[in-house]
Amino acid sequence: MGLVLSDPRLPAIKLAWPELAARADKEGWPAARFLAALVEHEIVERGRRRIERHLDEARLPPGKTLATFDFTATPMVSKAQAMALAARDAWLEKGANLLLFGGPGGGKTHLAAAIGLALVENGWRVLFTRTTDLVQKLQAARRDLALESAVAKLDKYHLLILDDLAYASKDQAETSVLFELISARYERRSLLITANQPFADWGRIFPDQAMTLAAVDRLVHHATIFEMNVDSYRRRSAFERVRGPGRPPGRATLKSST
Ligand code: ADP
Ligand code: MG
Repeated sequence: MGLVLSDPRLPAIKLAWPELAARADKEGWPAARFLAALVEHEIVERGRRRIERHLDEARLPPGKTLATFDFTATPMVSKAQAMALAARDAWLEKGANLLLFGGPGGGKTHLAAAIGLALVENGWRVLFTRTTDLVQKLQAARRDLALESAVAKLDKYHLLILDDLAYASKDQAETSVLFELISARYERRSLLITANQPFADWGRIFPDQAMTLAAVDRLVHHATIFEMNVDSYRRRSAFERVRGPGRPPGRATLKSST
């Protein structure tokens, strides 16, 4: 018994079996119940460890959760919508995209990370990356003639979060790896993209018009788009701190507090 249950492939059982066995003896469990309890324990622990690994690999910025996101600051995104994206997986199954546009400080990165975190907790695999970092990695891969396999490796992530796309790149080589990625994932694997400029400006940012159009086309074909054009949350909360000792924090808008 002890030998089998110390097998390194069953770490949870290894830890828990002496105590469970003692309890089973004491309470007179039938053998089937004891066995079921052991196996169930291993399965539950295995699921937990898996999610822990996925959380680790996701590289999400810390502390950005749906619970700490103030939805009153972004009237164009309802909490119900965000919760639905985090909980219902239909969009990930068909490789649909989520696009967050808006000026700096509007909460794009926070919301993207929060949705990513919720999805990891629901069993999906996610990678959060600054767009510039990923573009650099993909360019290095291309120099090694390994772009295709680098892009294919990202397939294991059901959702790839590209933060700050608009800052990414202005030259042809940089954008073309990005567009390679977009077309490789099209209708198979989801992207969540945050950007300061809406698509209308992309033609100016990216040098190759035809390539840009094709990429935009693929991105928006199955996409939910949030235009988060709100006051900077940072500026706003700094302003509210200045305004009022003694006032309850966080709810008043700039307009109503003047
Ligand atoms: P963006 O990516 O749009 O520039 P961020 O998500 O980085 O904006 O937000 C800037 C800071 O303000 C972050 O610390 C973020 O957590 C916070 N923040 C922004 N919007 C909200 C919000 N609606 N509720 C809570 N915190 C927010
Ligand atoms: Mg950001």
